Amino acid sequence: MPLKHHRMQFPREVIVGRGAIEHVGQVCDRLGFTDSALVIAGAKTYNIAGKMVKQLLEKKEMKIDVFLVENATVRDVEAVEKKIKSVKPQLVFAVGGGTKIDVAKCSSAEQDIPFISVPTTASHDGIASPLSSIKGSDKPYSVVAQAPLAIVADTRIIMRAPWRFAVSGCEDVIAKFTAVKDWKLAHKDKDEYYGGYAASLALMSAKHVMQNIELMKKKNEEGLRILLEALISCGVSMSIAGSSRPCSGSEHLFSHALDVIKPNHGMHGERCGVGTIMMTYLHGGNWRRLRDALKGLRAPVNARELGVEKEDVIKALRMSSSMRPERYTILNKLNLRRQSYEHLAKVTEVI
Ligand SMILES: [Zn+2]
Repeated sequence: MPLKHHRMQFPREVIVGRGAIEHVGQVCDRLGFTDSALVIAGAKTYNIAGKMVKQLLEKKEMKIDVFLVENATVRDVEAVEKKIKSVKPQLVFAVGGGTKIDVAKCSSAEQDIPFISVPTTASHDGIASPLSSIKGSDKPYSVVAQAPLAIVADTRIIMRAPWRFAVSGCEDVIAKFTAVKDWKLAHKDKDEYYGGYAASLALMSAKHVMQNIELMKKKNEEGLRILLEALISCGVSMSIAGSSRPCSGSEHLFSHALDVIKPNHGMHGERCGVGTIMMTYLHGGNWRRLRDALKGLRAPVNARELGVEKEDVIKALRMSSSMRPERYTILNKLNLRRQSYEHLAKVTEVI
């Protein structure tokens, strides 16, 4: 059978480090955008970084419009699309944490213009991935939108966010250990397409963060830089795979399910981290080593620390495989009963 083709979209420029934001003007110049841009931010992230992006671009005599969003719902995306249609910018700047970037990514893709990612937190891999997750859409997980044309990640700005965000980012990267195991399993059991290179890249990011746990504990810009590079590599691995497969397996399904059962309890990465402990156990891996690493980062490792009930964890485990029926994971293979899920959560000390 001939291989189906897929399109890979990559960032053209990536600037990571202290003072990176000061380069937004040059980035626009080099990419050939000198007329206009729309800055999408939240009220807070506008003050933290959006305003600066606007001022820097205005110095270049670009026409800059601003649109503030608060959530990442279908409505927010529609509102941004309307704004794009009316001001017709050459490109969009997505300034913020997860939600603002998701909205800008999705709306710019729909309107067929590029976007530049300017993250103000490093809490998950969406800052560099071609996927976005929008609340109120028919899917509770990420769907393909477009990859950022450039990423400008200023560590001095990202340092201002609570360190909990960075820890959540580390957990989203560590989650790739089980995501890749699930992908391999789907290839073996279901003959699903498996991209060895994309898988290796995601896995390498996870190993890189694990190897630098001691540095991450110091909560400094150096650690943040390593985390950002890992998150960006994860984004690139998804661009290569053409889906979130290398970065999202059973541990993400657990996180999505828990978010449906108890919305907004724990951050995305935190829920994935707890999911990774349990899914590593199911895969027969060294879950204690992972748990120790997460504990070292002071990340939540159980239901209480996530702020959910024991019963929520069991419910989420039982619901996980139905979150995304086409995504085959260890959960489909084992097809456990309630009692076994309870045992899994107990033995890994999640409940
Ligand atoms: Zn994730």
